[in-house]
Amino acid sequence: MSIIVILAIFYIFTLKIINVLYVIDENVAKFASSLFKRYYSKNRIGVDSVANREFGFGDFESKISYRHREFKTDAELQKYMVEQAPAFVSYSASFYSMPAGRPMENKGWLGAELVFDLDATDLHLECQKAHGSSWVCENCFSSIKDETIKLIEDFLMPDFGFSEKEIRINFSGNRGYHIRIKSDDIFGLGSDERKQISDYISGSGIKMENFFPTINQRNTKLEGPRPTDYGWGGKMAKGMIELINGGEGKMAAMGIKKADVQMLLKNKQEIITGINNGNWDMVRISKKAEFWRGIVEKMTIKQSDSIDRNVTKDVYHLLRAPNTLHGDTGLVAKRLGSLHSLQVFEPMKDGIVFGDRHVRVHAGKVSAFYMKGEQFGPYNDQDAEMPLYAALYLMLKRVATLAEV
Ligand SMILES: [Zn+2]
Repeated sequence: MSIIVILAIFYIFTLKIINVLYVIDENVAKFASSLFKRYYSKNRIGVDSVANREFGFGDFESKISYRHREFKTDAELQKYMVEQAPAFVSYSASFYSMPAGRPMENKGWLGAELVFDLDATDLHLECQKAHGSSWVCENCFSSIKDETIKLIEDFLMPDFGFSEKEIRINFSGNRGYHIRIKSDDIFGLGSDERKQISDYISGSGIKMENFFPTINQRNTKLEGPRPTDYGWGGKMAKGMIELINGGEGKMAAMGIKKADVQMLLKNKQEIITGINNGNWDMVRISKKAEFWRGIVEKMTIKQSDSIDRNVTKDVYHLLRAPNTLHGDTGLVAKRLGSLHSLQVFEPMKDGIVFGDRHVRVHAGKVSAFYMKGEQFGPYNDQDAEMPLYAALYLMLKRVATLAEV
């Protein structure tokens, strides 16, 4: 056998494996499409400013397979949704006078919402090493929700002064949340200004000297920010107190050396009292400037790492349209009306829209998961009967197929 034949066989074999892993089963796609169609015939999605947004649609293989669509009215969009039952619906955060215009320069850009796209995969959680990035466990859900609340409560409201009414929150339909700021103050900002907002949130370019005026002077008291200070100073002080109160585990996770952790814990009360008063010098620490600089820098990076990457600087970006279905889960990208709605939102309960008639599927290797508070699985290459919403979730996650009848 020639090497070419061997390579060809290897190539076909590899394609077959990739198919098994990534390409959706034809029966599943048909099954899901008919469910999506029925959903859209009964539920209006209701997009604000529909006539000025560009729309993009995807099938079960690709989230955006075509874009540059426009709809004059909500009814026109809804009709399209019922007819086509797309697996993914995305729209622009930008508003245009001619959303279907091509290339982009011909759309007549009017302005854009400020968008944050937070996804659990960006958190690099320990659990993800075990279950992979396409699966989402309870820890993933709660961690990304905390991160989203932090962005709103620690940055968007106090530092930028956005009101709760201007902050639109919705579940992404899979692993995270989308935030859109709808405000005249940011509408006209270009990419560079959006990048500055991102830099502020990520703390990039923070100069320690601005917060610790005596940090480079020997034999002087180290003065630093207080928790009540505005902006990053306050965040550093609050973050440091939280870190010390968080105990050994939290500090070790931050990469602080064991001996330093012991020293901080031993003098915990004095250090916290000091920071509360802007005195970061309550305990004798050798090389104190380097010591605090090291921790504060680690802390600011950790605080903002995941948020930073998700500030959308690209004004042409399309994101999931609220209240549409997600083609990888069958859950709805639900609009959450307030910060409180986000706090109490449970994706695997409140994101469910399909019924509970039983469906028989063949599940591959699947860890236990919870929907509507009920545990399903674990499964190991076996047939199983479960409510429609759970069956659809597994099939769209590519870990189950419809069972042979
Ligand atoms: Zn997880």
